[in-house]
Amino acid sequence: MSPHPDLSVVIPCYNEAANLAALYKRLSPVLKSLNLSYEIIFVDDGSRDNTFEEIRTLHSEDKQVKGLSLSRNFGHQVALAAGLHHSSGNMVVTMDGDLQHPPELIPELIARCNQGFDIVNTKRLETEGAGFFKRNTSRMFYKLMNRLSDVALTEGAADFRLMNKAAVEAYASFNERDRFNRGLVTWMGFNQDVIEYNAEARFAGKTKYTFRKMLRFAIDGITSFSSRPLRLAAYTGILVSVAGLLYAVYALIRHFSGATIPGWTSMLITVLLLGGVQLISLGVIGEYIARIFNEAKSRPLYFIKEKTEDTTGND
Ligand code: UDP
Ligand code: MG
Repeated sequence: MSPHPDLSVVIPCYNEAANLAALYKRLSPVLKSLNLSYEIIFVDDGSRDNTFEEIRTLHSEDKQVKGLSLSRNFGHQVALAAGLHHSSGNMVVTMDGDLQHPPELIPELIARCNQGFDIVNTKRLETEGAGFFKRNTSRMFYKLMNRLSDVALTEGAADFRLMNKAAVEAYASFNERDRFNRGLVTWMGFNQDVIEYNAEARFAGKTKYTFRKMLRFAIDGITSFSSRPLRLAAYTGILVSVAGLLYAVYALIRHFSGATIPGWTSMLITVLLLGGVQLISLGVIGEYIARIFNEAKSRPLYFIKEKTEDTTGND
């Protein structure tokens, strides 16, 4: 096989041992039918089950399967970046390891790429088996994101997409730490297209995006693309100060007209309100400072612990 296959498929996996064999079984006939040279790169994101053993088994049977194992769990977005850095295909497809992204869509992604698109995104219409909570928090997230940030994101856009070599190279030049790939890719520009699909239910196992991880992901998405929350904090501060000033004038008038009241209620409300606004604003500023801190340390994005042989790419 040439060192530069036509297609690389990058799949981040965190505790997906129960899904890999089934995924490979569905993915590999699709790739074979394309008559292109290809590689499948599984990125084991510090799994605690035997995901990497599964990858090794697949690799021993099919040399087109390659595996990287990160030194710990770095998170989905960083695992994706690691996979992209180690891919060498002229086109790269990224997808999840739980069969929620149908491999059968890949030929269509490639067809669009051949029509001249550099990046072909996908948009999920429905997710089989997704609960009320997941669907609604996801929808709210995209609404909020589009309100607050400067890049427009389509609802249901996931990290299932195709990029050509130029786009992958552009992507590899990002070195930010708290990444939000969807936003970065939208921000990159190039010729982008979107195709729609229906997501299936997860094949096995549970979602790795707990509520905490989703919240973290949402905050990363917003803070890496917008300084509007900072401005919002300042506006709220101004608003509350003006209200406070008016109240102070009222209090003075009351004082000089001799009608001084015990004032416990109003005092309490004012203190609570001001305290709340101050804490929120501090929190918002803290989020941004944390990001500056993270970037300033400029630590490596990830470490690789193990590889199946001959994983080329740009490292
Ligand atoms: N994933 C990962 N590292 C993590 C969390 C998730 O590599 O820390 C992978 C996971 O194995 C899967 C993909 O990212 O292939 C999407 O995760 P998941 O299916 O749990 O998210 P959901 O589809 O529920 O949003
Ligand atoms: Mg999933």
